[in-house]
Amino acid sequence: MPVMSVAKRVALLCLSSTVALVAQSGPNDPRAREIYKELVEINTTDTPAGNVTKAAEAMAARLSAAGFPAADIRVLGPDPRKHNLVVRWRTGAATSRKPILLLAHLDVVEAKREDWSFDPFTFLEKDGFFYGRGTSDDKAMAAQFVANLIRLKQEGFTPDRDLILALTADEEGGNFNGVDWLVKNHKDLIDAEFAINEGGGGNMRKGKYLTNEIQASEKVFQDFHLEVTNPGGHSSLPVKDNAIYHLSAGLARLATFDFPVQLNEVTRGYFERSASVQDDPKMAADMRAVARSTPDPAAAARLSAAVPFYNSLMRTTCVATRLQGGHANNALPQMAGANVNCRILPGVSPSAVKDKLVEVLADPQINVSFVGVTDCISVIQRSPPTVWTELSATSTTCGRMARTNASA
Ligand SMILES: [Zn+2]
Repeated sequence: MPVMSVAKRVALLCLSSTVALVAQSGPNDPRAREIYKELVEINTTDTPAGNVTKAAEAMAARLSAAGFPAADIRVLGPDPRKHNLVVRWRTGAATSRKPILLLAHLDVVEAKREDWSFDPFTFLEKDGFFYGRGTSDDKAMAAQFVANLIRLKQEGFTPDRDLILALTADEEGGNFNGVDWLVKNHKDLIDAEFAINEGGGGNMRKGKYLTNEIQASEKVFQDFHLEVTNPGGHSSLPVKDNAIYHLSAGLARLATFDFPVQLNEVTRGYFERSASVQDDPKMAADMRAVARSTPDPAAAARLSAAVPFYNSLMRTTCVATRLQGGHANNALPQMAGANVNCRILPGVSPSAVKDKLVEVLADPQINVSFVGVTDCISVIQRSPPTVWTELSATSTTCGRMARTNASA
């Protein structure tokens, strides 16, 4: 579930998509299971074998059979294999309330047969769990939406405002992001007061529901390219000024650096409430200690060290993910490069993160640059106007987009 979608920005209220089995009861559960199985068994990867349109059409056929009029079921998209399904359930009531959008993605990340102990596109139930590519991300949610709409229709329910179901392509990757395409080309079809989408979750202990978590926002994904260049030379005549050494020393400094703990209303609330269902009393005390208006740094450090998820909630993170450098075994390197992937807290400016990287790397020979512009949209959408202003003052593509956004 990568970042970027207008609908996600609008609101995120996430339904649990646990794959653990709970006791099935009533006539609706077998149907939901059947829909889930059908979706998991359609390969919707962004590969030659994948086809999202097939999944969109299969769900369209089910909703059509359940009585949704053909005119309100649209299967559409910019590529024959990347169609999205948009279904509108019209309210009979006279209302000015805007629709609710139920949003889930149909595509899945590639799954190689050799990496799996069984065919990832076979729906498997074993030891109380469902297995298969997409069982949790995001076909459980898509199947629940479809099953619930069919059930509600059969039970004679009438919504008091329009409900829109959008099952989309290329959320995980690929060139045809369905939400992006719908927003740009068919905004009227999905325009809603808010959207319910993936991203939250929940916890159970011994069959008891403990938490139902809501995702209020996402961190911003931003890659930075680090590069050191050097005239090079022959390895028989080494000099201390070496591109690989400059880069690796800088990365070693980055390895020991942590961005400051920075809680907001949502993360503070998360720790406060999670403390009450935490069965380890020490961890519960630490959660309460970081939730205070001045977080206890020792408690934050213990939580960060214990659980990477807690660490990522409390701060912006940047981590080296790729390295390249050198061109021959007997040559001094003329280039050493690294990718550093940052996940930036909402409201924090990406350029401030870049400045901090430069400071931490502490070597003017390490050039730091932004990679890609795909996340400009999410930076702009998720950030307060102060960040737009800062961005728009730059000559980057992000800056141009921010200016366009501000003037729109
Ligand atoms: Zn997802």
